Amino acid sequence: MKRNVISKKWMYFPIVSMLISTIIGLFIFNLTLSNWIEEKIEAGLLTEITRITHKLQASDLQFDDLERLDIYIKTDIELSRQNHITLIKFDGTVLADSDISLIEVLQIENHLNRKEIIDAKNTGHGTTTRFSTSRFRDLLYSAKSFSYQGQDYILRVATPLTRIESMANELMTILILLMTISLVLVTASTLLSSKLMNQQVQAEKDLQESKIEQRTLEIELLRRLTNMLAACNSIDEAQMIVEDIIPRILGDVNGVVSLIRSSRNQLLVKLDWGGAWPGSKTYAPEECWALRKGKFHLANDKYTTLPCSHMAEVQTEHPDANQTLCIPLVAHGNTIGMMHLYSGDNDLSEDTQQLAFTVAEHLGLALANLNIQEKLREQAISDPLTGLYNRRYYEETINQELMRAKRYKQELSLLMLDLDHFKRFNDNYGHDAGDYVLKTIGSLLLESMRGEDTICRLGGEEFIIVLPGTGIAAARQIADGLCKSINDLHLAMKDLSLGKLSVSIGISTYPINGMQKDELTKLSDIALYEAKERGRNQSCHYSDLIITGEQALTSTEKLIEQDTNKDNDKTDLNVVSI
Ligand code: GH3
Ligand code: MG
Ligand code: MG
Repeated sequence: MKRNVISKKWMYFPIVSMLISTIIGLFIFNLTLSNWIEEKIEAGLLTEITRITHKLQASDLQFDDLERLDIYIKTDIELSRQNHITLIKFDGTVLADSDISLIEVLQIENHLNRKEIIDAKNTGHGTTTRFSTSRFRDLLYSAKSFSYQGQDYILRVATPLTRIESMANELMTILILLMTISLVLVTASTLLSSKLMNQQVQAEKDLQESKIEQRTLEIELLRRLTNMLAACNSIDEAQMIVEDIIPRILGDVNGVVSLIRSSRNQLLVKLDWGGAWPGSKTYAPEECWALRKGKFHLANDKYTTLPCSHMAEVQTEHPDANQTLCIPLVAHGNTIGMMHLYSGDNDLSEDTQQLAFTVAEHLGLALANLNIQEKLREQAISDPLTGLYNRRYYEETINQELMRAKRYKQELSLLMLDLDHFKRFNDNYGHDAGDYVLKTIGSLLLESMRGEDTICRLGGEEFIIVLPGTGIAAARQIADGLCKSINDLHLAMKDLSLGKLSVSIGISTYPINGMQKDELTKLSDIALYEAKERGRNQSCHYSDLIITGEQALTSTEKLIEQDTNKDNDKTDLNVVSI
């Protein structure tokens, strides 16, 4: 604000300085002009004197005849109205005057004391300016000596100084008028140009401010994109984030991120934003120019029109304007995928392209981290031999499933599976064959179960299956089905028959048998032992067990008892089927 006030003050500086210099200039000019006019009038007076003396000399007048001389001076000498002439003898006696009568002339004092007369007498010519007591005003006198009929005379011509002043004033008025007009024009043009400049500066300032605002917004959005991607756990979460934030950064442009499969022979579109993607959702690496060049590729620039093959399906009215930008996503020195932008028939602006490169940098790192994170998590929760979930995942999931069952007032069953005589199988066919069987059974379980069921390998040849929304009867039916399927398997490895295998399954159901994870797990374990006891290759639900004896044991007591008796004498548990 302060700076603005100062600049406004300085805006008037040229006008004020011009005004001052004009006034000084006019003053100096006025002086010079007055001198110049005076010189010109002096020269004019001298010419006039010369003209009159020539006329007198040619007149044949007798200067002693004062009356004739007086008439001649007053009438025959054609004088300009303002000029006065005086004819003076060399001794200073006035002989005739164009303005005053002869009587007055005869009474007039001797003029020998007048400066112009003295100079004319001495040098032939004299000039002076003074107040005339006879005419009561300032006059410019010019006198010149001349000879006539053997006598010396002086002819003096006077002109009023007001003439000089009025001429100077006239010229000055014209000049001042011209100066005023030019000053007004200069002032007006200065003010106008300063106003235009201010408007231009303001417009530039507004533009810069809006650019800064836009950049700040972009930086904030990029920061949020990076932070949110760093916090997300899955590609689905990443999809939600890019869908929300990237259109705010890049505007109305279609875009996708495709990731290179671990086999490195194919790219799959994993993330998209800004509407349905018109290009291929899966493509080979050689179908993208950018991937082949290891550098971004703009399909249509001012030099070439080379669209990538993965965009070949796109049909537009103007194939030459069909614009795609492909940018490799690089993280830790490796290309992990591509970001593709499609703007159809519109050109991608330089700004959008630059922003796209920045977004690609952030996406590359974030997706690489997400990939590592996903791999680590997958490793942490899966069993490497069978590909099923492991015990850790079971521990995590069962609580969530129980909470869900409670919330939706649904039943939930646990199937605990243990292969029968697997030790013997290993002994007979070897550990590799045992592994092969475990894998086969893992696949069978995956194929047989529903999507919402969770299948985990607890360890060794033991599995557990969580069946949400499944009651006693359904669980029993599923378990029996599994027993049959496994028993029906024709196991063979490298053309070597491995004989038959069977499984025993213990079942417990929420909420009938128990409410807590540990309790239900233990009860399914108890049921499993009962199935083993009953001869294996069968299932047993905990509800099938009836405790005989003096006192019914609580589930917990049964667990303790089971734990202690497990290794010693399993038959101590006296149970019968309902
Ligand atoms: P039961 O019918 O009573 O369950 O008899 P079992 O022989 O299956 O009994 P147990 O649970 O004591 O034996 C489990 C055997 O499973 C021991 C081991 O040889 C085998 N085993 C455990 N983990 C693996 C594995 O990862 N691979 C292979 N090949 N065998 C395993
Ligand atoms: Mg076992
Ligand atoms: Mg076993």
